[in-house]
Amino acid sequence: MQLSSLLVRYGEIGLKGGNRSAFEIQLCKNIRSILTNIPNLTVSRQRGRIQCKAEIDLSPFAEKVSRVFGVTSVSPGVPVLLSEEAILEQSLSSIRNEITTRFPQSTTGSIPFKILVNRANKQFPKSSRQLIGDLAEIVLPKCPELKVDIHNPELRLEVDIREEYAMIFSKRYPGVGGLPVGTMGRGLCLLSGGIDSPVAAWMAMKRGLRVEFISFYSFPHVGPQSREKIIQLAEKLAEYQPRTILHIIPFAPYQEAIRDRCPESYRTVLYRRAMQRISSKIAKTNRSKALITGESLGQVASQTLQNIATIEDASHLPVLRPLISMDKTETVAIAKKIGTFDLSIQPAPDCCTVFQPQSPVLYSSSKEAILAETPLELDALTKQAVIESEKIEITP
Ligand code: ATP
Ligand code: MG
Repeated sequence: MQLSSLLVRYGEIGLKGGNRSAFEIQLCKNIRSILTNIPNLTVSRQRGRIQCKAEIDLSPFAEKVSRVFGVTSVSPGVPVLLSEEAILEQSLSSIRNEITTRFPQSTTGSIPFKILVNRANKQFPKSSRQLIGDLAEIVLPKCPELKVDIHNPELRLEVDIREEYAMIFSKRYPGVGGLPVGTMGRGLCLLSGGIDSPVAAWMAMKRGLRVEFISFYSFPHVGPQSREKIIQLAEKLAEYQPRTILHIIPFAPYQEAIRDRCPESYRTVLYRRAMQRISSKIAKTNRSKALITGESLGQVASQTLQNIATIEDASHLPVLRPLISMDKTETVAIAKKIGTFDLSIQPAPDCCTVFQPQSPVLYSSSKEAILAETPLELDALTKQAVIESEKIEITP
């Protein structure tokens, strides 16, 4: 049985130096977690690359692996023994295969073609230049569809000579970059049904955070479709990391208390402060070191600098806001790319629209917010919300 392989390249190494192996081990783990049910799969580190090998064709999985954070590109190919004969033979067969599958209509001399050799293993007896010559001599006469064009090739033959084998491939799937999920610890994302917070979660994952989710659910003031929407968004986001947890917080009692006992103009700010308080408690039980929100400066009334500051004052943890300086159009473009947009635009009310004030405060202060909260039994309300929270394990 012929071996099939994915050659995985990565770029930035988080914190550099001594962290390199932790970064690589985590990246291998994350890749393994999405390549499930592949018999005899090995995922190993090899001098600045990661190699996935199996006895089935791995090329259908290349795109999936390219979406793992930390990966800069992926090439599906075939590993062969370090002999020139084996390299020539496999190169010819790979290129013939590419021509039939990718260029079925091709005619003589119609496919611009280039050969590249990377001789990482300097013990290999032939130089790159010699090997390119030998490959051209074998491949070109047997593949009349090809014409050499080193500037604008549409088809490449690449040979990567490693320590123990050579890898033959012809495609590079660009990766998403970033850092492997898990290398920067854990964060808790406040996930609403909107467009922004799912994108914020994805961006936090991209920088190496494992992200848990918390969502505030105001049943019966909003219906079960709001809860269902959050679960669907979490399922989509679960595609980007190995394990995903969602906490759903019954928020109606807190909101009713705010409605009944606090000044109307402060309602939204106080809802948000309540979210920060409850999230900080949940984060502690899950070893999350930061909260993540989809806030963007000036986007809505609750996101003036003053309101953002008043809201953050109720958190016990640093608050990360990956979208702080992004325009809505930029966020929408990412939401479409990562597959959350179509879910986010489904109509389902968010808890923040419940008992919405006529004219919400634009320039709040912590001092006034604390004053506005004095009639509330904050500890009891927070505790009740945490006790009644629901924890769901999400699978993509
Ligand atoms: P989004 O599109 O993410 O809802 P938005 O622009 O609508 O953001 P807001 O509704 O003001 O902004 O919410 C700001 C942030 O507060 C959200 O990005 C999210 O992180 C958090 N948030 C709002 N509502 C909820 C909720 N029901 N559950 C959890 N977090 C929420
Ligand atoms: Mg919203």
